[in-house]
Amino acid sequence: GYDELTFLAPVVSDCLVLVEHLVSKGNIRVDLALNEAPTVRVDPGEMQQVVINLIVNAIQAMGDHGTLSISLTTEPREGKDGACLRVRDTGPGIADDKLTSVFDPFFTTKQAEGTGLGLSISQTLVQRSGGLISARNCDPGAEFMVWLPAAT
Ligand code: ADP
Ligand code: MG
Repeated sequence: GYDELTFLAPVVSDCLVLVEHLVSKGNIRVDLALNEAPTVRVDPGEMQQVVINLIVNAIQAMGDHGTLSISLTTEPREGKDGACLRVRDTGPGIADDKLTSVFDPFFTTKQAEGTGLGLSISQTLVQRSGGLISARNCDPGAEFMVWLPAAT
């Protein structure tokens, strides 16, 4: 990929345009909080792929109604400044013993439309850019966090 100095806020906005048909199909509220965050050194197309994966998973988990919350903040990690993106839904969440397996290639709980590759590829892309991706449950729903180090 071509790592560039990238602002994540417009990447997120572009993703929301691309998934608008999925959002408007059901009764899904989008709660967007794009705060100031440092630029990161990533391939914007790759990051778009990551964010789309997270949003599509969130919408699929919720079915036809719920709230999709996306936030972007500045957050230090291990002494390094960074940009932190959270994608949260109000679906059923993830079995507690599967919170790390969801990133394994071919792990899926979906009957037909699942390849189980979305999160695995997302993890590869995020880690290659020096970042971290993780999942947690937040009652209700699941929250995925992507942290990327600030460009230096
Ligand atoms: P796929 O979407 O093709 O199943 P992913 O790698 O994107 O593959 O996700 C793997 C699995 O992780 C999903 O099948 C699902 O079990 C779980 N998962 C991912 N996102 C969520 C979410 N927002 N809520 C609940 N489970 C999720
Ligand atoms: Mg997926």
